[in-house]
Amino acid sequence: MTEKVYKYVIVGGGVSAGYAAREFVQQGLKPGELAIFSSEEFAPYERPTLSKAYLFPEGAARLPNFHVCAGSGGTKQPPEWYTEHGIDLYLSTEVKILDVEAKSLTTSAGATYKYETVIVATGATFVRLADSGVPGADAQGIYYLREIDDADKLLAAIKDKKDGPAVVIGGGYIGLELTACLVKNDVKVTMVYPGPHCMPRLFTPELAAFYEGYYEAKGVTIVKGPRATEFEKDESGQVKTVKLKDGTTIQADIVVVGVGAKPRLELLKGQVAEEKGGFKVDGFFKTSVPHVYAVGDIAAFPMKIYGDIRRVEHVDHARKSAIQAVQAIKAEEKGETIPEYDYLPYFYSRSFDLSWQFYGDNVGEAVTWGREAAQASSSKFGTYWVKDGKVVGAFLEGGSPEENKAIAKVAKEQPAVSSKDELLSAGLSFATTI
Ligand code: FAD
Ligand code: NDP
Repeated sequence: MTEKVYKYVIVGGGVSAGYAAREFVQQGLKPGELAIFSSEEFAPYERPTLSKAYLFPEGAARLPNFHVCAGSGGTKQPPEWYTEHGIDLYLSTEVKILDVEAKSLTTSAGATYKYETVIVATGATFVRLADSGVPGADAQGIYYLREIDDADKLLAAIKDKKDGPAVVIGGGYIGLELTACLVKNDVKVTMVYPGPHCMPRLFTPELAAFYEGYYEAKGVTIVKGPRATEFEKDESGQVKTVKLKDGTTIQADIVVVGVGAKPRLELLKGQVAEEKGGFKVDGFFKTSVPHVYAVGDIAAFPMKIYGDIRRVEHVDHARKSAIQAVQAIKAEEKGETIPEYDYLPYFYSRSFDLSWQFYGDNVGEAVTWGREAAQASSSKFGTYWVKDGKVVGAFLEGGSPEENKAIAKVAKEQPAVSSKDELLSAGLSFATTI
């Protein structure tokens, strides 16, 4: 049997895949040129919805409403969109082997396809406590979140164990966003995390104190310091308690774990160069092997603005890296070049009625303004990070779209600042008057 040959193949069907598909269409795609292989059952969707509106007790977001590219104000791409554009979308189809020398891939069902150019967009998966040998971590009732299936299992548990206490392990993005969703569903939550405060990779102690205070005011119990060291199960294998290193035992009908993500590198492992825990790419998302591109969470790319190599596990970069890779592929076909990727880091989160955005780099001295005046709700405060006399990062809680644009501009332009007091007294107006 002759193997089907595609001009372009995307392996992985998440955020990057969806935005790459749109860019191919915008750049001019002939029917039958592009195939997307996804182990998920659903056409690419905006993954951030899963830890937010998908879990709301009322008015919950459901497909097709959050297919890409809805999250960035674009047209939604339900499965029919792919058909209409002559794109072969292989759903529930895991790629088991990707042979970059043979330019072929094999699915778990044993089907083989050839390609001319491949974009690998396999994203990340959650870190499991069972993998680090935590006793009882295989109990039923312990939930992780990456895909729709995971969210559906958690929703079923919330329905089933209404009022049952939950323990959320991890004080990062998943921990904070899922705690808020559980509370919205009237579930009593205890959060457990090892660091001195939540979101240690971004928040200063001062920022964290606000969010922790806010969560506590919503009835969340926060246990900082000791790690979860064991889960006890009942006779049916259902989780019963979480034991912490200091001997504390917390009752739990539901446990939600968010202790980090690990990029899914299996397919290209040993075939392309790696760096910083991802696949090393250039400013066009080309790996060390010709015609093999890597985008989104798995790519370790040159962060031009800071002159180093980084991996970013956030949706804005997933979208933009996919677009950049496709534009680079199409430009190369025409013998043209495009500017190198010049990314300004952008992270955000929403929970309860809070909403923050961060742009740039959180290095140097952190100067937080407006915290004292901040109320438990409708608050507006922020932080600037100052390095070598320049503002290199900016965080804003409760900003309007214009104000968020202003802090992005600060992080991009890195204006000089004479003193910490200048930032403290100017607060947001430092950004809005730049
Ligand atoms: P993904 O979107 O994860 O897509 C990877 C796809 O590849 C998946 O469909 C996977 O099943 C598939 N796949 C993997 N291996 C194979 C294989 N061998 N064969 C076939 N298919 C395969 N970022 C933000 O900036 N803001 C947020 O609010 C935010 N919220 C998030 C909420 C949740 C619950 C999660 C999990 C992440 C969130 N993120 C957020 C991070 C953001 O969603 C990711 O950075 C982004 O999805 C990465 O895009 P990607 O295309 O690289 O990977
Ligand atoms: P994060 O890396 O954001 O946070 C993990 C947290 O868990 C850290 O605070 C970490 O602390 C803590 N931790 C690590 N090990 C343990 C342990 N054994 N017990 C208790 N706590 C522990 O990862 P998440 O799991 O929150 O998120 C997973 C992925 O999803 C990431 O790629 C993230 O970017 C993405 N995501 C992004 C969102 C957004 O941008 N708004 C929303 C939801 C998910 P320490 O750092 O001290 O080790």
